[in-house]
Amino acid sequence: MHAVDVSITEVGLRDGLQNTKSFMPTAAKNAWISAEAAAGVRQIEVCSFVPAKLIPQFADAEEVLAHANAIPGLTAVVLVPNLRGCERALESGARRVMVPISVSEAHSLSNVRKTTAEAVEDFRRMADLVRSQGQAGRAQLVGACSTAFGCSMQGVVAEDDVVRVAVALRQAGADAISLADTVGYANPEQVKRLFHKVRAAIGEDFHIEAHFHNTRGLGLANALAAFEAGVRSFDSTLGGLGGCPFAPGASGNVVTEDLVFMFESMGVRTGIDIDKLIAVRNTVFTALPDAELYGHISKAGLPKGFQPRSRAA
Ligand code: ZN
Repeated sequence: MHAVDVSITEVGLRDGLQNTKSFMPTAAKNAWISAEAAAGVRQIEVCSFVPAKLIPQFADAEEVLAHANAIPGLTAVVLVPNLRGCERALESGARRVMVPISVSEAHSLSNVRKTTAEAVEDFRRMADLVRSQGQAGRAQLVGACSTAFGCSMQGVVAEDDVVRVAVALRQAGADAISLADTVGYANPEQVKRLFHKVRAAIGEDFHIEAHFHNTRGLGLANALAAFEAGVRSFDSTLGGLGGCPFAPGASGNVVTEDLVFMFESMGVRTGIDIDKLIAVRNTVFTALPDAELYGHISKAGLPKGFQPRSRAA
């Protein structure tokens, strides 16, 4: 296995599919996971452990996780909204569990009917649960600060609030922290400033990840800004799947293919074979005919003479 400079987590099966109207058949989800793993993607967020009556798309969470867990070299990530979801995920063999905590009180109350402080307390109980598995081989817990760059309900989210929540999550037992631009409000200057502030507060060596949406077209610029602020782990979705339900026609997450192209063309190794990755689009999205797909590199093709850093390694 080749060394990588940045780690890219495909989150289309969770962040993308949760906003997709039609149910993607389990076999198609599994084929998508296998194909991206074969292209060199080493971490994939595969499902959400929310009640199936809330989001029917994730009714097959256990099956999809089991498939992903069986692929050598792949780390499957699952989202859990609360302690019950965390219990279910651990019982199903989850090894990396992502818990979104809204820094915006308005968003937190609307999403999980808890204040941010109550959600952090819930996170502490999840950290205790994870640690009750014993240290060796226990699941890793990621505390994701959602609405970190702004909120469609509250508007501006104070940077001090983000720092406070990130520190609280680390103290509560997080193994990693993620800052998420849930509604696509971030700009590169803000991204750089906030990642510097949070890293200074939680420790420069502590694992931190970035999650951007391309709602307003700044996804790649924000990813580059985070990279320059020292971030080496990024979320993105194949085809930019995951449009915002509150902004019809707006694009979804950062496009995985374009993010890989940006880094590889800069000489930053992703470990991902971009040709194989682009090929995954066709196979996957025949199973999702009503999904809107985005992306530049898949349409324009690679520049003549382009040498990806990962293949040369
Ligand atoms: Zn998201």
